[in-house]
Amino acid sequence: MKRAEIEHWLRETDGARLDELWQRADAVRREHVGDAVHLRGLIEISNVCGRACAYCGIRSGNRQLERYRLTTRELLECMRRALALGYGTLVLQGGEDPALDPEWLASIIRRVKARTSLAVTLSLGERSPNELALWRNAGADRYLLRFETSDRDLFARLHPSRPGRSSDRIALLGTLRELGYETGSGVMVGLPGQTYTSLARDIELFGELDLDMIGVGPYIAHPATPLAEHEADFRAAPGEQTPNTELMTCKVVALARLVCPRSNIPATTALATISADGRALGLLRGANVIMPNITPLRYRALYDIYPDKACLHEDADTFDMELKTRIAAIGRCVATGQGESPNCTARRQSAACAWN
Ligand code: SAH
Repeated sequence: MKRAEIEHWLRETDGARLDELWQRADAVRREHVGDAVHLRGLIEISNVCGRACAYCGIRSGNRQLERYRLTTRELLECMRRALALGYGTLVLQGGEDPALDPEWLASIIRRVKARTSLAVTLSLGERSPNELALWRNAGADRYLLRFETSDRDLFARLHPSRPGRSSDRIALLGTLRELGYETGSGVMVGLPGQTYTSLARDIELFGELDLDMIGVGPYIAHPATPLAEHEADFRAAPGEQTPNTELMTCKVVALARLVCPRSNIPATTALATISADGRALGLLRGANVIMPNITPLRYRALYDIYPDKACLHEDADTFDMELKTRIAAIGRCVATGQGESPNCTARRQSAACAWN
Protein backbone atom coordinates (compact mmCIF):
# COMPACT_ATOMS: atom_id res chain seq x y z
CA MET A 1 0.00 0.00 0.00
CA LYS A 2 1.42 3.36 -1.01
CA ARG A 3 1.58 6.48 1.08
CA ALA A 4 -1.26 8.27 -0.75
CA GLU A 5 -3.70 5.41 -0.14
CA ILE A 6 -2.64 5.15 3.50
CA GLU A 7 -3.16 8.88 3.97
CA HIS A 8 -6.56 8.59 2.34
CA TRP A 9 -7.57 6.01 4.95
CA LEU A 10 -6.16 8.14 7.77
CA ARG A 11 -8.44 10.97 6.62
CA GLU A 12 -11.50 8.74 6.07
CA THR A 13 -14.51 9.71 8.20
CA ASP A 14 -17.30 7.67 6.60
CA GLY A 15 -18.42 4.93 9.00
CA ALA A 16 -19.34 2.40 6.30
CA ARG A 17 -15.97 2.82 4.56
CA LEU A 18 -14.19 2.46 7.89
CA ASP A 19 -16.11 -0.75 8.58
CA GLU A 20 -14.55 -2.02 5.38
CA LEU A 21 -11.08 -1.15 6.73
CA TRP A 22 -11.76 -2.92 10.05
CA GLN A 23 -13.04 -6.00 8.23
CA ARG A 24 -10.07 -6.14 5.88
CA ALA A 25 -7.61 -5.79 8.76
CA ASP A 26 -9.42 -8.45 10.78
CA ALA A 27 -9.46 -10.89 7.84
CA VAL A 28 -5.76 -10.35 7.14
CA ARG A 29 -5.00 -10.81 10.84
CA ARG A 30 -6.92 -14.09 10.93
CA GLU A 31 -5.32 -15.42 7.74
CA HIS A 32 -1.70 -14.63 8.68
CA VAL A 33 -1.42 -14.76 12.47
CA GLY A 34 -4.60 -16.61 13.44
CA ASP A 35 -7.12 -16.25 16.24
CA ALA A 36 -4.82 -16.93 19.19
CA VAL A 37 -3.81 -13.87 21.23
CA HIS A 38 -0.25 -13.85 22.55
CA LEU A 39 0.17 -12.56 26.10
CA ARG A 40 3.51 -10.99 27.02
CA GLY A 41 4.40 -10.29 30.64
CA LEU A 42 5.62 -6.69 30.73
CA ILE A 43 8.13 -5.84 33.47
CA GLU A 44 9.19 -2.22 33.83
CA ILE A 45 12.67 -2.83 35.19
CA SER A 46 13.78 0.76 35.83
CA ASN A 47 12.40 4.29 35.53
CA VAL A 48 15.87 5.84 35.67
CA CYS A 49 16.50 7.64 32.39
CA GLY A 50 19.34 9.77 31.07
CA ARG A 51 17.37 11.14 28.13
CA ALA A 52 15.28 14.27 27.73
CA CYS A 53 12.43 13.16 25.44
CA ALA A 54 9.93 16.02 25.32
CA TYR A 55 6.89 13.71 25.49
CA CYS A 56 7.92 11.29 28.22
CA GLY A 57 7.15 11.62 31.94
CA ILE A 58 10.23 9.66 33.07
CA ARG A 59 12.61 12.01 31.22
CA SER A 60 15.66 12.95 33.25
CA GLY A 61 14.41 16.52 33.74
CA ASN A 62 11.40 15.38 35.78
CA ARG A 63 12.88 15.90 39.24
CA GLN A 64 9.61 15.23 41.05
CA LEU A 65 9.64 11.55 40.21
CA GLU A 66 11.02 8.99 42.64
CA ARG A 67 13.32 6.61 40.75
CA TYR A 68 13.58 2.83 41.08
CA ARG A 69 15.42 -0.12 39.59
CA LEU A 70 14.20 -3.69 40.24
CA THR A 71 16.50 -6.05 42.14
CA THR A 72 17.45 -9.48 40.85
CA ARG A 73 15.04 -10.99 43.35
CA GLU A 74 12.14 -8.82 42.25
CA LEU A 75 12.83 -9.60 38.61
CA LEU A 76 12.92 -13.34 39.20
CA GLU A 77 9.69 -13.05 41.19
CA CYS A 78 8.06 -11.40 38.15
CA MET A 79 9.40 -14.21 35.99
CA ARG A 80 7.74 -16.79 38.24
CA ARG A 81 4.49 -14.83 38.04
CA ALA A 82 4.64 -14.86 34.23
CA LEU A 83 5.22 -18.62 34.24
CA ALA A 84 2.35 -19.20 36.66
CA LEU A 85 0.02 -17.22 34.40
CA GLY A 86 1.13 -19.24 31.38
CA TYR A 87 2.77 -16.38 29.48
CA GLY A 88 5.40 -17.35 26.88
CA THR A 89 7.38 -14.12 26.77
CA LEU A 90 8.89 -11.65 29.23
CA VAL A 91 9.29 -8.07 28.06
CA LEU A 92 11.88 -6.10 30.01
CA GLN A 93 11.27 -2.40 29.45
CA GLY A 94 12.87 0.61 31.01
CA GLY A 95 14.26 4.10 30.73
CA GLU A 96 17.71 4.55 29.24
CA ASP A 97 19.22 3.91 32.64
CA PRO A 98 22.92 4.87 32.48
CA ALA A 99 23.68 2.90 35.65
CA LEU A 100 22.05 -0.32 34.50
CA ASP A 101 24.92 -2.82 34.54
CA PRO A 102 24.91 -4.61 31.16
CA GLU A 103 26.60 -7.69 32.69
CA TRP A 104 23.95 -7.87 35.42
CA LEU A 105 21.20 -7.85 32.79
CA ALA A 106 23.07 -10.46 30.73
CA SER A 107 23.22 -12.73 33.78
CA ILE A 108 19.46 -12.34 34.32
CA ILE A 109 18.78 -13.17 30.66
CA ARG A 110 21.01 -16.25 30.91
CA ARG A 111 19.16 -17.41 34.02
CA VAL A 112 15.73 -16.97 32.45
CA LYS A 113 16.82 -18.78 29.29
CA ALA A 114 18.50 -21.62 31.21
CA ARG A 115 15.64 -22.26 33.61
CA THR A 116 12.53 -21.62 31.52
CA SER A 117 11.23 -21.76 27.97
CA LEU A 118 10.29 -18.08 28.03
CA ALA A 119 11.22 -15.78 25.15
CA VAL A 120 12.94 -12.59 26.31
CA THR A 121 12.14 -9.24 24.71
CA LEU A 122 14.10 -6.10 25.61
CA SER A 123 12.91 -2.51 25.28
CA LEU A 124 15.60 -0.36 26.85
CA GLY A 125 16.07 2.45 24.36
CA GLU A 126 19.19 3.28 22.38
CA ARG A 127 21.94 1.03 23.66
CA SER A 128 25.45 0.56 22.26
CA PRO A 129 26.03 -2.21 19.71
CA ASN A 130 28.29 -3.91 22.30
CA GLU A 131 25.53 -4.03 24.90
CA LEU A 132 22.98 -5.20 22.33
CA ALA A 133 25.38 -7.97 21.22
CA LEU A 134 26.10 -8.97 24.83
CA TRP A 135 22.37 -9.37 25.57
CA ARG A 136 21.72 -11.17 22.30
CA ASN A 137 24.54 -13.63 23.07
CA ALA A 138 23.07 -14.10 26.55
CA GLY A 139 19.89 -15.32 24.83
CA ALA A 140 17.63 -12.27 24.37
CA ASP A 141 15.26 -13.00 21.48
CA ARG A 142 13.59 -9.73 20.60
CA TYR A 143 14.01 -5.95 20.85
CA LEU A 144 11.40 -3.20 20.72
CA LEU A 145 12.52 0.28 19.74
CA ARG A 146 9.87 2.63 18.42
CA PHE A 147 11.13 5.21 15.92
CA GLU A 148 8.28 7.41 17.29
CA THR A 149 7.94 9.45 14.08
CA SER A 150 9.60 9.23 10.66
CA ASP A 151 9.66 13.05 10.44
CA ARG A 152 13.32 13.71 11.18
CA ASP A 153 12.87 17.34 12.17
CA LEU A 154 10.03 16.53 14.55
CA PHE A 155 12.00 13.59 15.99
CA ALA A 156 15.01 15.82 16.63
CA ARG A 157 12.84 18.39 18.41
CA LEU A 158 11.08 15.78 20.55
CA HIS A 159 14.01 13.50 21.18
CA PRO A 160 17.25 15.41 21.74
CA SER A 161 20.41 13.43 20.97
CA ARG A 162 23.02 12.82 23.64
CA PRO A 163 26.02 15.17 23.35
CA GLY A 164 28.22 14.03 20.47
CA ARG A 165 26.00 11.08 19.53
CA SER A 166 23.24 11.44 17.01
CA SER A 167 20.06 9.57 17.70
CA ASP A 168 19.24 7.40 14.69
CA ARG A 169 16.66 4.80 15.66
CA ILE A 170 16.13 3.61 12.08
CA ALA A 171 19.86 2.76 11.81
CA LEU A 172 19.73 1.06 15.20
CA LEU A 173 16.84 -1.12 14.02
CA GLY A 174 19.19 -2.32 11.26
CA THR A 175 21.85 -3.17 13.87
CA LEU A 176 19.27 -5.12 15.90
CA ARG A 177 18.28 -7.09 12.83
CA GLU A 178 21.93 -7.86 11.99
CA LEU A 179 22.46 -9.11 15.53
CA GLY A 180 19.63 -11.58 14.95
CA TYR A 181 16.98 -9.97 17.15
CA GLU A 182 13.35 -10.29 16.18
CA THR A 183 12.77 -6.60 15.68
CA GLY A 184 9.89 -4.35 16.64
CA SER A 185 9.19 -0.67 16.30
CA GLY A 186 6.28 1.73 16.16
CA VAL A 187 5.09 5.26 16.73
CA MET A 188 2.88 7.43 18.88
CA VAL A 189 -0.31 8.60 17.17
CA GLY A 190 -1.30 12.25 17.39
CA LEU A 191 2.03 13.68 18.54
CA PRO A 192 1.85 17.48 18.35
CA GLY A 193 3.53 18.29 15.05
CA GLN A 194 2.68 14.95 13.43
CA THR A 195 0.89 15.47 10.10
CA TYR A 196 -1.33 13.05 8.18
CA THR A 197 1.38 12.82 5.54
CA SER A 198 4.12 11.96 8.03
CA LEU A 199 1.92 9.40 9.82
CA ALA A 200 1.18 7.79 6.44
CA ARG A 201 4.94 7.71 5.83
CA ASP A 202 5.44 6.04 9.25
CA ILE A 203 3.08 3.23 8.24
CA GLU A 204 4.72 2.85 4.84
CA LEU A 205 8.07 2.61 6.66
CA PHE A 206 6.76 -0.27 8.84
CA GLY A 207 6.55 -2.25 5.60
CA GLU A 208 9.94 -1.12 4.26
CA LEU A 209 11.61 -2.08 7.54
CA ASP A 210 9.82 -5.46 7.34
CA LEU A 211 9.05 -5.20 11.06
CA ASP A 212 8.30 -8.33 13.08
CA MET A 213 6.43 -6.40 15.79
CA ILE A 214 4.61 -3.06 15.61
CA GLY A 215 3.49 -1.13 18.68
CA VAL A 216 1.33 1.95 18.25
CA GLY A 217 -0.53 3.94 20.86
CA PRO A 218 -1.99 7.42 21.18
CA TYR A 219 0.25 10.20 22.47
CA ILE A 220 -0.97 11.15 25.96
CA ALA A 221 0.18 14.50 27.36
CA HIS A 222 2.15 14.32 30.62
CA PRO A 223 1.95 17.62 32.53
CA ALA A 224 5.60 17.47 33.69
CA THR A 225 6.96 17.56 30.13
CA PRO A 226 7.94 20.36 27.74
CA LEU A 227 5.66 18.93 25.07
CA ALA A 228 2.57 19.31 27.26
CA GLU A 229 3.68 22.76 28.37
CA HIS A 230 4.45 24.07 24.88
CA GLU A 231 2.04 21.97 22.86
CA ALA A 232 0.82 24.96 20.84
CA ASP A 233 4.37 25.61 19.58
CA PHE A 234 4.57 22.09 18.20
CA ARG A 235 1.14 21.64 16.64
CA ALA A 236 0.85 21.35 12.87
CA ALA A 237 -1.65 23.48 10.93
CA PRO A 238 -5.31 22.60 11.51
CA GLY A 239 -6.26 20.07 8.85
CA GLU A 240 -2.73 18.67 8.90
CA GLN A 241 -2.35 17.77 12.60
CA THR A 242 -3.29 14.17 13.44
CA PRO A 243 -5.56 13.70 16.48
CA ASN A 244 -4.44 11.44 19.37
CA THR A 245 -7.79 9.62 19.46
CA GLU A 246 -9.03 6.07 19.75
CA LEU A 247 -10.25 6.20 16.15
CA MET A 248 -6.95 7.41 14.70
CA THR A 249 -5.02 4.80 16.72
CA CYS A 250 -7.33 2.02 15.48
CA LYS A 251 -6.79 3.19 11.89
CA VAL A 252 -3.03 2.94 12.39
CA VAL A 253 -3.34 -0.55 13.91
CA ALA A 254 -5.52 -1.70 11.00
CA LEU A 255 -3.24 -0.18 8.36
CA ALA A 256 -0.14 -1.62 10.06
CA ARG A 257 -1.79 -5.05 9.78
CA LEU A 258 -2.46 -4.55 6.07
CA VAL A 259 1.11 -3.36 5.41
CA CYS A 260 2.76 -6.06 7.59
CA PRO A 261 0.35 -9.03 7.53
CA ARG A 262 2.60 -11.45 9.45
CA SER A 263 3.85 -9.19 12.21
CA ASN A 264 2.82 -9.29 15.86
CA ILE A 265 0.80 -6.20 16.76
CA PRO A 266 -0.31 -5.45 20.33
CA ALA A 267 -3.45 -3.66 21.45
CA THR A 268 -1.45 -1.29 23.66
CA THR A 269 -1.93 -0.06 27.20
CA ALA A 270 -1.99 3.52 25.87
CA LEU A 271 -5.01 2.65 23.70
CA ALA A 272 -6.66 1.03 26.74
CA THR A 273 -5.91 4.20 28.72
CA ILE A 274 -7.90 6.50 26.42
CA SER A 275 -10.65 4.00 25.64
CA ALA A 276 -12.42 1.70 28.10
CA ASP A 277 -12.56 -1.15 25.59
CA GLY A 278 -9.35 -0.23 23.81
CA ARG A 279 -7.83 -3.67 24.14
CA ALA A 280 -10.83 -5.46 22.60
CA LEU A 281 -11.13 -2.81 19.88
CA GLY A 282 -7.47 -3.21 18.99
CA LEU A 283 -7.84 -7.00 18.80
CA LEU A 284 -10.88 -6.62 16.52
CA ARG A 285 -9.07 -4.20 14.20
CA GLY A 286 -5.81 -5.99 13.45
CA ALA A 287 -3.98 -6.64 16.74
CA ASN A 288 -3.04 -10.11 18.02
CA VAL A 289 -1.00 -9.40 21.17
CA ILE A 290 -1.68 -8.03 24.67
CA MET A 291 1.08 -7.08 27.09
CA PRO A 292 -0.26 -7.48 30.64
CA ASN A 293 1.78 -5.50 33.14
CA ILE A 294 3.40 -7.72 35.78
CA THR A 295 5.65 -5.07 37.37
CA PRO A 296 5.28 -5.20 41.18
CA LEU A 297 2.31 -2.93 42.01
CA ARG A 298 4.37 -0.72 44.34
CA TYR A 299 6.47 0.47 41.36
CA ARG A 300 3.63 0.68 38.84
CA ALA A 301 2.84 4.38 39.34
CA LEU A 302 6.53 5.29 39.15
CA TYR A 303 6.89 4.10 35.54
CA ASP A 304 5.05 7.30 34.77
CA ILE A 305 5.60 7.74 31.02
CA TYR A 306 2.08 9.24 30.74
CA PRO A 307 -0.63 9.87 33.37
CA ASP A 308 -3.42 7.51 34.47
CA LYS A 309 -2.05 4.46 32.68
CA ALA A 310 -4.70 1.76 32.37
CA CYS A 311 -2.49 -0.72 34.22
CA LEU A 312 -1.93 1.42 37.35
CA HIS A 313 -4.09 -0.66 39.65
CA GLU A 314 -4.34 -3.84 37.61
CA ASP A 315 -3.13 -6.59 39.92
CA ALA A 316 -1.52 -9.20 37.62
CA ASP A 317 -3.69 -12.14 38.75
CA THR A 318 -7.04 -10.30 38.70
CA PHE A 319 -6.24 -8.64 35.40
CA ASP A 320 -5.22 -11.97 33.90
CA MET A 321 -8.59 -13.54 34.71
CA GLU A 322 -10.54 -10.59 33.33
CA LEU A 323 -8.40 -10.45 30.22
CA LYS A 324 -8.84 -14.12 29.41
CA THR A 325 -12.63 -13.73 29.80
CA ARG A 326 -12.63 -10.72 27.49
CA ILE A 327 -10.55 -12.53 24.88
CA ALA A 328 -13.01 -15.44 24.91
CA ALA A 329 -15.94 -12.99 24.72
CA ILE A 330 -14.75 -11.73 21.32
CA GLY A 331 -14.37 -15.28 20.02
CA ARG A 332 -10.61 -15.51 20.32
CA CYS A 333 -8.36 -17.81 22.32
CA VAL A 334 -5.13 -17.43 24.26
CA ALA A 335 -1.95 -18.58 22.53
CA THR A 336 0.57 -20.91 24.09
CA GLY A 337 4.33 -20.95 23.52
CA GLN A 338 6.75 -18.15 22.75
CA GLY A 339 4.76 -16.72 19.84
CA GLU A 340 7.52 -15.63 17.48
CA SER A 341 6.03 -13.60 14.64
CA PRO A 342 5.43 -15.60 11.46
CA ASN A 343 7.27 -12.78 9.70
CA CYS A 344 10.44 -13.57 11.64
CA THR A 345 9.98 -17.34 11.28
CA ALA A 346 9.69 -16.99 7.51
CA ARG A 347 12.81 -14.80 7.34
CA ARG A 348 14.84 -17.22 9.44
CA GLN A 349 13.68 -20.13 7.28
CA SER A 350 14.62 -18.43 4.03
CA ALA A 351 18.03 -17.50 5.50
CA ALA A 352 18.51 -21.16 6.49
CA CYS A 353 17.54 -22.25 2.95
CA ALA A 354 20.10 -19.87 1.47
CA TRP A 355 22.79 -21.71 3.42
CA ASN A 356 21.82 -25.14 2.10
N1 SAH B 1 13.29 3.96 26.99
C1 SAH B 1 12.65 3.07 26.05
C2 SAH B 1 11.23 2.70 26.45
C3 SAH B 1 10.33 3.89 26.51
S1 SAH B 1 8.67 3.60 27.02
C4 SAH B 1 12.68 3.71 24.70
O1 SAH B 1 12.85 4.92 24.61
O2 SAH B 1 12.51 3.00 23.71
C5 SAH B 1 7.96 2.86 25.58
C6 SAH B 1 7.18 3.77 24.65
O3 SAH B 1 6.23 4.53 25.36
C7 SAH B 1 7.99 4.81 23.93
O4 SAH B 1 8.68 4.26 22.84
C8 SAH B 1 6.92 5.82 23.51
O5 SAH B 1 6.43 5.54 22.19
C9 SAH B 1 5.79 5.58 24.51
N2 SAH B 1 5.54 6.80 25.28
C10 SAH B 1 6.41 7.56 25.96
N3 SAH B 1 5.81 8.67 26.44
C11 SAH B 1 4.53 8.62 26.02
C12 SAH B 1 3.38 9.48 26.15
N4 SAH B 1 3.46 10.65 26.80
N5 SAH B 1 2.22 9.10 25.59
C13 SAH B 1 2.13 7.93 24.93
N6 SAH B 1 3.15 7.08 24.75
C14 SAH B 1 4.35 7.42 25.30
